Amino acid sequence: MKVMKFGGTSVGKPEGMHHIVSLVTRQDEPVIVVLSALSGTTNVLVEIGDYIAKGDRQSAKKSIDKLEAHYRAFINDLVKKEEAVAKAKAIVAEHFEFLNIILKISFSEALSKDILAQGELLSTRLFCTYLEEQRTPHQLLPALEFMSIDQYDEPQIGSIRVKLTQLLKKQKDKKLFVTQGYICRNAKGEVDNLKRGGSDYSASLIAAAINASVCEIWTDIDGMHNNDPRGVKRTVPVEQMSFDEAAELAYFGAKVLHPASIWPAQQYNIPVKLLNTMLPEAKGTTITEEAGSVGVKAVAAKDNIIAIRIKSSRMLLAYGFLRKIFEVFEKYRTPIDMITTSEVAVSITIDNADSLDSILKELEPFGTVEVDKNQTIISVVGNQIAQTEDMVKKLFGSIMNIPVRMVSYGGSPHNISLLVPAAYKAQILQQLNRGMFGLE
Ligand code: ADP
Ligand code: ASP
Ligand code: MG
Repeated sequence: MKVMKFGGTSVGKPEGMHHIVSLVTRQDEPVIVVLSALSGTTNVLVEIGDYIAKGDRQSAKKSIDKLEAHYRAFINDLVKKEEAVAKAKAIVAEHFEFLNIILKISFSEALSKDILAQGELLSTRLFCTYLEEQRTPHQLLPALEFMSIDQYDEPQIGSIRVKLTQLLKKQKDKKLFVTQGYICRNAKGEVDNLKRGGSDYSASLIAAAINASVCEIWTDIDGMHNNDPRGVKRTVPVEQMSFDEAAELAYFGAKVLHPASIWPAQQYNIPVKLLNTMLPEAKGTTITEEAGSVGVKAVAAKDNIIAIRIKSSRMLLAYGFLRKIFEVFEKYRTPIDMITTSEVAVSITIDNADSLDSILKELEPFGTVEVDKNQTIISVVGNQIAQTEDMVKKLFGSIMNIPVRMVSYGGSPHNISLLVPAAYKAQILQQLNRGMFGLE
């Protein structure tokens, strides 16, 4: 059995859904199709939740009506037969009635998660309606019946496996299953989600849970590129990379994959493929245990980074100093991305500012604390990059004019990270494209 995940851009147009059906029915093994919401939907749902939270019901209503009009137009081109049209209309009416009811209820965090879930619930039901119209046998597997996270928002892979296996057992004769990406239940049993872009994570968790032959992530680009195609001219796909390399790139900003989406596949050794829905014959990127080749594969950038420097002469020859500092971040459940030390100072970066004030207060007794906001981590990722000839020369040679704030080298054989002020991001990515990959 394989997993095929289609992102928002792939399902965003009715023709996109038609095309997906032609792809998923061509397979010679059973498939679980994981769908995102139509592109743009989750953004609007976030907006609706924000308006309701602020008490601006009028703006929320406007956004709901606009989104509903979009879905009405969408189903017009999705299905044609009378029965299917009536069904699709009823589905759209049901979900928008729900949103309109929410407008009248007092706001809560749990309610905002219910709002966010509507996108994937809608896309999968509409997709199944089209499958029905085409008389393609299939089974909808509701993600809310098997996908779950614990009190720390960590997926419960054991329980996901048990529940999903039970659901599949009941449908032994079926070859095509459809489920929602992104949404899940939390430890309280409420509707929740795997954070923005989380459908990739759902796909990898499902692939791990059922020991899939492959986890295919179908999107709007032909694989993981060597650099960020959103800002850099001339980027190229990387054919093969290891789980470790892909995980570093996803974590450090390659938006094509959710930051946590590699570990479930890696843990169960399931190959991941990044493929282009509109160009299915393109090779894309294959991610397995094998790196394929030695050297630098790609660079990525992670925004909204905060750098914190703690300077203290008491650090000199002292042991236990770093532990005490790390304990502060641990207490506030704030992950550290980069760390560099000298004999009298330590610099740390975080990307979660939720507890920043409390963290800074608790760090004060340790020395002078300086904070730089609005920084970007640039990660250079590859296989055994430290041993690659001329790598350091090429890297630093190409960014001589950039004020680098921190460098992290040697933490892993796959990654060198640089911290730069956000204003230099576009420039440094372009210069690295030239200097490290020879792409102008
Ligand atoms: P989906 O809706 O399919 O989940 P996303 O928008 O989440 O698609 O991810 C695909 C996008 O990721 C691409 O269109 C591309 O602009 C962006 N992207 C950022 N970095 C990379 C990279 N290194 N390689 C490929 N795509 C990338
Ligand atoms: N629809 C969700 C989002 O836009 C999840 C996803 O697309 O992966 O974040
Ligand atoms: Mg995505």
